[in-house]
Amino acid sequence: MTNKALVWFRRDLRTTDHPALFSAAEAAESIFALYILDDNPFNERNMGAASRWWLHHSLTALYADLKALNIPLVYRRGDATSVVPAVAAEASVDAVYFSKIYEPQEFRLEYAVAKGLADIGRKVHCHEGSLIHPPGSVTNKEGRPYRVFTPFWKSWNDTPVVKPLGKIAPRGAAPITNISGERLKDFKLLPTHPDWSGGLQKAWRPGELGAETQLTHSIKGIVRSYNHSRDVPAVTGTSRLSAHLHFGEISPARVLHIVRTSLEASRDVEMESNMTGFLRQLCWREFNHDLLSRYPDMACQNINANFNEFPWQANAEHLAKWQRGSTGYPIVDAGMRELWATGWMHNRVRMIVASFLTKHLLINWQAGEDWFWDTLVDADLANNAANWQWVAGSGMDAAPYFRIFNPTLQGQRFDPAGDYVRKWVPERANYPAKQIHIPDPPAESLFADGYPGAIIEHKFARQRALDAYGVIKRRN
Ligand code: FAD
Repeated sequence: MTNKALVWFRRDLRTTDHPALFSAAEAAESIFALYILDDNPFNERNMGAASRWWLHHSLTALYADLKALNIPLVYRRGDATSVVPAVAAEASVDAVYFSKIYEPQEFRLEYAVAKGLADIGRKVHCHEGSLIHPPGSVTNKEGRPYRVFTPFWKSWNDTPVVKPLGKIAPRGAAPITNISGERLKDFKLLPTHPDWSGGLQKAWRPGELGAETQLTHSIKGIVRSYNHSRDVPAVTGTSRLSAHLHFGEISPARVLHIVRTSLEASRDVEMESNMTGFLRQLCWREFNHDLLSRYPDMACQNINANFNEFPWQANAEHLAKWQRGSTGYPIVDAGMRELWATGWMHNRVRMIVASFLTKHLLINWQAGEDWFWDTLVDADLANNAANWQWVAGSGMDAAPYFRIFNPTLQGQRFDPAGDYVRKWVPERANYPAKQIHIPDPPAESLFADGYPGAIIEHKFARQRALDAYGVIKRRN
């Protein structure tokens, strides 16, 4: 029996279906919890501003949830390679438990931490918990990774799943700890001067309870209409679980289990198809992590090296207009403003704005990935990079570059009544549905709305993008 255990929390900020916490609870008499913030400016990549906001609130919730279980949570700052062994020694624990993160930087860190702990004679227990089927476990008949999503999905969906664990029972009295820690507020995760987080505050409830509530609320809608409503940004037709999943406030195994359980209860063909549609999206998350394990540089390098020759254009003015939501294309601007206000954007609109940046404006997908990284509450290395590369055409199993969305038609198709644009582009609030998506409406119908004209003409931009693509097609 382990006497004292330390659970190092990372991107698993929950207490239910937490294999590392569960094992620690089974093995040890007393448990301490540790969270380390490493935001050294020399790191390869630190969390973006919206994610920092989320993390603050998620840690607040975790602190309370652990306290209810009589587990004290200590905050520390620095490099986990030295901090974890130092705290393990200070607290005289016998063993350290943590959950794996499938990202290259984190993988190296886990290795170094485990080595540091072994050097001081502490046991290390490393657990799954962030993915249903970890990278490398879904392979074709020859044992090779899939290059294309659909066969990955079929195989993923057929792979048996371990039933999620429940919540651990409250421990006896909390262990007396004299381990020094920082105060959460000293992490300075929240924006001040100015505090731009009002919209995020209204839109989200970070933490395990928030995640569970969100799942309960969305499950009915998912069952009834996911396949249709997932593409309509004006309605809440998706689960909005992405940030909760990213921070590990709910496990994907639990989401899958709850969804499959309600599927078994119903057996209606349409419901079944909606559930399958939803699980397919959840599977994209896993496919992207599988991809990242094979292309560790995919957040900064094209997966398809042919794109290394692509004639991108650096245009700071166009980039700033795209970021601010003043391109003059209502559906693009609505998406960018939703992102700025709430830290989230609907998936269909993410695809439209990403296509606009990389094809209409010919700006390298990495500039878009970077902006999303800073502004999304669900910013995730694998999902963000893979999706950007998918839209730009440089990714694995990507949309072909020559498929260029017409933002006006996309708006008319997926926001036919114009309600999404009306919400986020108030300059267009009084426009009839017929005209609301048109960038520069015909002169006789121009409303004095103060909305900017289109920064680029669609036909011209489309041809220019096709010509640019022709350059790499000819070279390769
Ligand atoms: P739902 O439709 O309810 O889907 C359920 C879950 O499946 C999501 O919570 C998410 O975890 C996963 N999922 C859904 N779609 C995708 C997808 N295309 N790729 C990977 N996982 C998916 N998602 C992120 O989590 N982080 C990112 O940084 C991110 N960046 C993106 C950048 C671009 C350019 C694009 C086009 C998409 C990006 N996505 C990203 C994927 C997707 O837009 C979001 O996961 C989705 O909008 C989240 O909303 P939801 O939780 O309501 O999704």
